[in-house]
Amino acid sequence: MLVYFCNLYSVYICKRELYMNPFPPYSSVVESKLAGRYITNAHIEPLLSDFNHSIIGHTITNLPIYRIRIGTGSTKVLMWSQMHGNESTTTKSLFDLLRFLNTNPDWLENLQLSIIPILNPDGAKAYMRVNANQVDLNRDAIDLSQVESRVLRDEFDQFSPDYAFNLHDQRTIFGINGNPATLSLLAPAFDQNRSYNPCRTQAARLASTIFKGLQPLIGSQIGRFDDSFNPNCVGDAFQSAGVPTLLIEAGHYPDDYNREKTREYVFYAYILSLQAIATSSFSDLSFYHLIPENQKIFFDFLLRNVSFTENGSQQRGDVGLQYQEVLQNDSIAFQAVFAAAGDLSHCHGHIEPNCEKLNSFEFKIEESAQNVLNTLNL
Ligand SMILES: [Zn+2]
Repeated sequence: MLVYFCNLYSVYICKRELYMNPFPPYSSVVESKLAGRYITNAHIEPLLSDFNHSIIGHTITNLPIYRIRIGTGSTKVLMWSQMHGNESTTTKSLFDLLRFLNTNPDWLENLQLSIIPILNPDGAKAYMRVNANQVDLNRDAIDLSQVESRVLRDEFDQFSPDYAFNLHDQRTIFGINGNPATLSLLAPAFDQNRSYNPCRTQAARLASTIFKGLQPLIGSQIGRFDDSFNPNCVGDAFQSAGVPTLLIEAGHYPDDYNREKTREYVFYAYILSLQAIATSSFSDLSFYHLIPENQKIFFDFLLRNVSFTENGSQQRGDVGLQYQEVLQNDSIAFQAVFAAAGDLSHCHGHIEPNCEKLNSFEFKIEESAQNVLNTLNL
């Protein structure tokens, strides 16, 4: 496998620096039948026949939960995505990974993967975080009150993985030192003291491997997620059960609301971590502690020093606008609403328009801000 990687080395020019890109050419692996933010069972079902797949449960509305198995190696890796139904980026990357592995079987010499691409198909269909019972599956690891939670736990118990990947999307509000958090990583805690045992250390070294490997591409856009311990979160529960578990959160990349560029970086993160697992070569724990912590510092639009009225009083200050994602005709529409007003000098906007010619407007939380954006030609 390492020989294969060496053959794939190609020289890229990025940020005026010359460096070696160790990844497979992305255009040759991208699953073009999946695109955009709205990914459901109906989107992945036509792809399943290319893989060894089975149905491992049904939701309360009788939608199937699919599992794909690939590889017969000795090291077992469990990966699940869309436990939150509206978080589809890591699912797209999983099918890119599967396409890559299908055409590069030598890569699986030491690996055996069990992949649940959409754990919460009802949430995916309705484009919502929770399942059809309005339960957040990532707060159900102890109670196992929902069928999706039990399906995942059964797969965890029966497959008995050596590593687990908990795959999510995060909102556009997260950033690191003024850059958007395109990826966030976390080796979840297994106790209240957030201590490091060999299991959590191994998960953190996986995160280190990704952080180090993606430095030349998005080094300043990788964050570390809050590691508060919550035993009802699945990652914390699996880490507590002694299986190194890594959380990957796909986030914002400039001008990429469909998250196709982010999807590419998630694919590279999969490649880096699976390569590390297959060859037992991980970066040091010290790199994990170098990953900066995520901060909630971004708005989709930040209007600086503008005039507005709030509750009838005229004001001048900054106004932050945030997109709401709305399912319309089987795709996702982005509708801006007012989110915050005042001194937002410590925050950033993914877009910060010139507002010199903007007239005063009324600020009201939850109100559509599209008229203001129209005025600014946005
Ligand atoms: Zn999530």
